Formats: sequence, structure tokens, C-alpha cells
Amino acid sequence: MSIAIPSGLVANGAGIPDVCSRHGEPASVRKAVEFWSKPPTWSYLLIALGALPFVIVTLILRKKVRAQAWPFCPQCEKLHKNRLIIGIVLIALLPLSFVIAGSAGDTGALLVLVAFLAAFAGIIIVSRSTYRMLPWGFVSRDGSTVDLPKAHPQFVAAAQAAYAQAAQQHAAWQASQHAPYAQPPQH
Ligand SMILES: [Zn+2]
Repeated sequence: MSIAIPSGLVANGAGIPDVCSRHGEPASVRKAVEFWSKPPTWSYLLIALGALPFVIVTLILRKKVRAQAWPFCPQCEKLHKNRLIIGIVLIALLPLSFVIAGSAGDTGALLVLVAFLAAFAGIIIVSRSTYRMLPWGFVSRDGSTVDLPKAHPQFVAAAQAAYAQAAQQHAAWQASQHAPYAQPPQH
């Protein structure tokens, strides 16, 4: 399920439930997470000009929303550790392949090529193991919401409840601000 949480409620924590967004389980740890917006589609055309223009445009246009304490469940912690270990093992195979390739003759070159691809996959897996990436959330292009396209239904329900509560509190606060002016003058 997808849900969009107003950025303000992510930043102040009022819109974040006590449930993991990925598995819908009660949170066991909370970590600071910074959500980023995706680069605009047209910016990928800049890759043709080289990586640097793409990176610069992406960094300039990137919208950020920081959550002080995003919920993660025990499954998330396991996922984080497993991805990290698998990624590091894949990267570590690269220097090992050099050693083996030295005595493997013709097949050595192929072995190194495969090891390079494995190391590349390892880097991607390590980057996806970070707590920042686990919730799979992105700031909308205008920066107004944090979108979670693959949120767990239980997280969606809990986040909607948190939103309703925050909206109610805001309404009550607004009413209290305007109350003195709404009363008829006293004589
Ligand atoms: Zn989880």
C-alpha cells in the first residue's frame, strides 16, 4: 500500500506511528532517517553528459525531510545485518579473485570480470542495507509529503490514525487561539 505523510508531521514525529513501515510490526528501535526526493525524470538525460552534471542537478533539486526517530522492527534489524554481510562478502570476493586468477590461466580474466560484477552488486546491496533506505520512502517533488509506495497496511492504518490525531490536536489548538475573540464582549 502507498501512503503520503505530510512532511511536517514526519519532521516533528507526530505523523509517525509506533509501527514499522515495512513489516507492520511494533517498533523495537528508532533511528534518525533522512528522506530524499527522487531526481526528476529529465535529469537522467544529463547522465549522457557525464555523471557530474547529473549529480550536481540532483543535489541542487533534492528535497530533504528528516525524521528524528523512525520506527524499525526486529525483522528490519535482521534485514539490515543480512544485507550488510552479503554485500561485504560480495565485495571481498574481488581481491580474492585476483589471487585465484593469477594461477588460473585463461579463465582468470573471466573470473575477475565476474568478481567485478559481484562487487558492484555488493555495493548496491550495502547501500540498500542502510536504515535510511529500509523504509523505502521518498520526499515528493514539491517537498510537501513523504511518500511510502510500499508501506505495510498496518503501518498505513496506524499512520492515518496518527494523522487524524495530529489534525485534531491542531484544530483544538487553533480553536483555543481564536476562542477569546469569538466570545461576545463582556459587560
Ligand atoms: Zn520492519
